Amino acid sequence: MHSRTIIVGGGSAGMSCALHLKESGQEFLMLTDILGGRIRYSEEEKVNFGAYFVMSNYHFAKKLVTRRTWINPFSVTFHNNDKEWFNTISLHSVMRLPQLVKFYIALYFFIRHYSRYKIRCQTMPQRQAMAADPYIDKLFHQRAADFIREKGFEKAAHDYVSKFSYACTGVDMNNITALDMMNCCMGLGVPIHRFSFDRQAIESKLGYRARQESVEKIQRFNNGYLLETASGAQYSADNVVLATPAFVTKKLLNLDIPLRQTCQLYVYHVEAVLKEKYADRQMNVFSFESEIVFTAIMDDGSYLIYARDQNEKLLDKVCSHYKILGKVGWDKAMYVYGDAYMEQDFEDGLYIAGDHNGLGLEPTALSGVYAANRIIKKYQR
Ligand SMILES: Cc1cc2nc3c(=O)[nH]c(=O)nc-3n(C[C@H](O)[C@H](O)[C@H](O)COP(=O)(O)OP(=O)(O)OC[C@H]3O[C@@H](n4cnc5c(N)ncnc54)[C@H](O)[C@@H]3O)c2cc1C
Repeated sequence: MHSRTIIVGGGSAGMSCALHLKESGQEFLMLTDILGGRIRYSEEEKVNFGAYFVMSNYHFAKKLVTRRTWINPFSVTFHNNDKEWFNTISLHSVMRLPQLVKFYIALYFFIRHYSRYKIRCQTMPQRQAMAADPYIDKLFHQRAADFIREKGFEKAAHDYVSKFSYACTGVDMNNITALDMMNCCMGLGVPIHRFSFDRQAIESKLGYRARQESVEKIQRFNNGYLLETASGAQYSADNVVLATPAFVTKKLLNLDIPLRQTCQLYVYHVEAVLKEKYADRQMNVFSFESEIVFTAIMDDGSYLIYARDQNEKLLDKVCSHYKILGKVGWDKAMYVYGDAYMEQDFEDGLYIAGDHNGLGLEPTALSGVYAANRIIKKYQR
C-alpha cells in the first residue's frame, strides 16, 4: 500500500503532525503501536498514567486533549524532608519573597523568549530556532543549577522551584537543563489543568488514516521509503515522519548518534488514607532526596502518586493505608539528561519528531507541526 506520507508513532508528535496534515488536505497514513503514546489516560479510572497536566499556553497540545480540573497552586505543600514542609502561601514564602521575585522576573523573560521560539519552531528546525535566539540556545546547554545561581534565586529554587521541576520530571537541578526546568516551571506562572484524552475522538478524526502497526524496518525504495511491520505488512511512502521515541528512531534508522539519557517514573493510582501531614492538600511535592515525586488527589478522592523508584513499599512513606488500583512504569519517561541534539530533517522526505530536544506535550506537538509544515511546503512548490 502506498501513501504520500506515513507517520510512524501516534503520541503527541505523531497526532499533532497528522491533524496538521489533515487540516491542510494532505493525504497520509499513521502507523502506531498505541495511540496516545505517553498520554496514557484511563477512561475507566479517569486518571493519567502518563503526562499529567497541560498549561493554559499549550496552544498546540490543546488540540489533542480536553482540559479538566484546575490544579490550584495555593493548595500545594512543598516538603523539604519528613520534618520540614511549607505551603504555597505561608510565613516561609513571605520570607522567600525577594528571591521569588527574582524567579518570577526570570520566568517573565523566559516566557517572552519561549513564546517567540515556539512560533519559529513551526517552520524552523529547533536547532535553527535556538540559534536565532541566543537566550534559548544558552538555556539548552546550561544546567538548571547554574542558571539558578546566575539569576540569584538559589533559596527560592531550593524550597519551591526545584520541587515543582522534580514533580514534573523526577530529575534534580544538577542534571536537568535550564531550558527543561524553566519549561516545566512555567506551571508556577500560568494556570495548569489535569486533562482527559479521548482516544475514540482522535481515532474518528483520523478515520481510516490510522492503523495499529509496529514498524520494524525502514529502507529507501525508489524515490521514497518502504516500511515493514511486525505483522508482516509492507507500506511505501514518498515521505516518512518518524514520531517514535528517540531510542526507537535511532534503532529504526540505525543511527550512530548520542541521545540524551532518560529518567524513570512509576505511576500509582491508589485508594488511600494519606498520613496526616500529606492529607487535605491537592498536591504534595518533594525534594530530590525523596523517591516519591508527588501525590495528587483526584476528583473521586483517590490519589495519584508518582515515584522514581518502582519499589511499591515507597508508598508506605506517604500513606497510612493504600490499595493499588492501577500502576504504570515508564523506564524511559522523558529525555532529560544532557544536551545532545537530534536533527529533525533527516534527509529529503524523512523527518523526525518527538520529545528528544525538548520535553513535554507542547514542544512535542510542535515538532509534529514542523514535520507536517515541511511536507506541506514541499507540495506547494
Ligand atoms: C509519567 C510521565 C508524566 C509526564 N507528565 C507530563 C506532563 O504533565 N505534561 C507534559 O507536557 N508532559 C509530560 N510528560 C512528557 C510527555 O508525555 C512526553 O514528552 C510526550 O508525550 C512525548 O510525546 P511523543 O509523541 O514524542 O512520544 P510518545 O508519546 O512516546 O509517542 C510515541 C509513539 O510511537 C509509538 N511507537 C513506538 N515504537 C513504534 C514502532 N516501532 N512502530 C509504530 N509505532 C511505534 C508509540 O506507541 C507511541 O504512540 C510526561 C511523561 C511521562 C512518562
